[in-house]
Amino acid sequence: MRQILALILALLMAAPAAAQGIPATMQGVEARKLFGAVSTGSPHRADAFGSYAKGCGAGLVQLPENGATWQAMRLSRNRNWGTPELVDYLQDLSKDAARLPGWNGIYVGDMSQPRGGPMSSGHASHQIGLDADIWMLPGTDLRLSRNARENLSSISLRRGNGAYVNGNWTAQHMELLKAAASDRRVARIFLFPGAKAWMCDNATGDRRWLRKIRPWWGHHYHFHVRLSCPRGMKGCVDQAPPPPGDGCDEARKWVSDIVNPPPPDPNAPAPTPRRQLTMEDLPRQCVTVLQSR
Ligand SMILES: [Zn+2]
Repeated sequence: MRQILALILALLMAAPAAAQGIPATMQGVEARKLFGAVSTGSPHRADAFGSYAKGCGAGLVQLPENGATWQAMRLSRNRNWGTPELVDYLQDLSKDAARLPGWNGIYVGDMSQPRGGPMSSGHASHQIGLDADIWMLPGTDLRLSRNARENLSSISLRRGNGAYVNGNWTAQHMELLKAAASDRRVARIFLFPGAKAWMCDNATGDRRWLRKIRPWWGHHYHFHVRLSCPRGMKGCVDQAPPPPGDGCDEARKWVSDIVNPPPPDPNAPAPTPRRQLTMEDLPRQCVTVLQSR
């Protein structure tokens, strides 16, 4: 009896703790390959597990490819999935956009894969159905063909490597960003620093919405909206809120660092290359999300 117990104990110890509950076929496999191979949502109540850059989504739903005031772009990628909260939010924002001069709605870029998770290309986040990219190109033609949606390009709004806006920038872009950031469901919006600095200089009236607009690299062909974890999604990990205030000093610092790059810090540690996530890195619920038919 004691020998049997010892044997069982030895077997349990032999399985690495991190791999427990993960089928052998999934152990050590890059999660982006597993999530990228699934083309439909999971048959669960909508839920987000983990964090924006390390997680997955159950019961995600599709933003319909076409709406009166939006179109989902790059349909071949099958990344127009999100929590119901994200889909509602995008539809609401698209109505705000349709009221702006020169806009009939929005073009929506990447959201999440059908079950969230890491992607094979393009993003570290967008993993739990709460992130979406909105094109800077005004949505004028909302009857684009599938083919046009593969080939049309957005427009860049940046000049000077992101320190300034260019001639494509309009006051309507600020109005859209203001509407996007003023929504209580939003946690953060990522945008190139020159655009935030422009809005810091030009926004009048209530400026509290500026706090949620965060300067970031890239993000000049689209802006990136990130929603907070919806109420009741207990496995969803929120990011810390942005620091208090409008964040304009921070945006100006980004701009000045682009214009006059600080000398490299000789003591800075070498950047570690980013490792591809495996199923062991994700919340254990993601195994169930992935396996369900
Ligand atoms: Zn994004």
